[in-house]
Amino acid sequence: MRVLGIEGTAWCASAALYDAETDSVLIESDPYEPDSGGIHPREAAEHMSEAIPEVVDRVLTAAEAEHGPDAVDAVAFSRGPGLGPCLRIVGTAARSLAGTLGVPLVGVNHMVAHLEIGRHRSGFDNPVCLNASGANAHLLGYHDGRYRVLGETMDAGVGNAIDKFTRHVGWSHPGGPKVEAAAAEFAGDGDDSAPDLLDLPYVVKGMDFSFSGISSAANDAADDGVPVEEVCFSLQEHVFAMLTEVSERALSLTGADELVLGGGVAQNDRLREMLAAMCEARGADFHAPEPRFLRDNAGMIAVLGAKMAAAGDAIPVPESAVDPNFRPDQVPVTWRDGESV
Ligand code: ATP
Repeated sequence: MRVLGIEGTAWCASAALYDAETDSVLIESDPYEPDSGGIHPREAAEHMSEAIPEVVDRVLTAAEAEHGPDAVDAVAFSRGPGLGPCLRIVGTAARSLAGTLGVPLVGVNHMVAHLEIGRHRSGFDNPVCLNASGANAHLLGYHDGRYRVLGETMDAGVGNAIDKFTRHVGWSHPGGPKVEAAAAEFAGDGDDSAPDLLDLPYVVKGMDFSFSGISSAANDAADDGVPVEEVCFSLQEHVFAMLTEVSERALSLTGADELVLGGGVAQNDRLREMLAAMCEARGADFHAPEPRFLRDNAGMIAVLGAKMAAAGDAIPVPESAVDPNFRPDQVPVTWRDGESV
């Protein structure tokens, strides 16, 4: 089976072809880069309307060159969560492409795709999943036909919380990689002992957590003259310690011994280092997919789309409306029993 996936929930216009027979993924992406500030929904949607046809054309041309006119067996698209104006463009493109090609349409939950790509690449059976993405932060575990939300942010997504600080100090979007670089510079400046941490809010309630207080406190620290590299270091250490603590609690309470990481913030070396150390200490296995599958990408949509299509989980066009608030626990997991891709 070969599935063409389309992603465009926020900033990344992306198309991909997943070939289940060879387990290979071709991804073509075109990111939206705001001139200033964060992601502006109208500008992002304008970007999608121009870039989605181009990335789809590149993938389809490559697929048909290799496999002929019947190269695609299904079209999968991100139904949500995400920005409504962007999702509607992706939905329209996917419906018209599936109709033109005469193949089934598959509606994929973007957060479940962030999770499933880690399970697929690791070969783990039943992991706990930490989704550390821009607009979201969830801990998910599978139980009785659904991915249950074990814990989640009570306010901002983890990437958005970091980006809020970098906007405050005048850095361009996305802020996460710049915070990582600045924190590494600060950590490398001292002697071998770990630098002292600023006293920032650390908010964990069971397996839920909150980032709005720490973003504001980081802004205040920078305004008070604390060097920005020092604030970046403490911000990262606090935020990632919170994510590591709740992940450990989820492993402990579920009895799972596998953790997969997903989402754009998972590209951060320090977050992966902390989670890997925690897993090693408790004898659990840890997997983070390669960066092209962590940030938003159509590869993960195509891979989960293929699993859903193989399970007969296609969607009729009249029922294929996008959902900006589509939660992972709304998705009946149709593909795990007798998984064939
Ligand atoms: P979602 O998947 O929830 O819709 P999203 O659309 O914002 O989120 P992602 O690609 O998952 O997209 O994540 C983007 C976020 O990842 C941005 O907030 C960005 O700052 C952050 N990010 C990217 N690289 C790094 C890094 N090295 N360290 C920390 N954060 C990073």
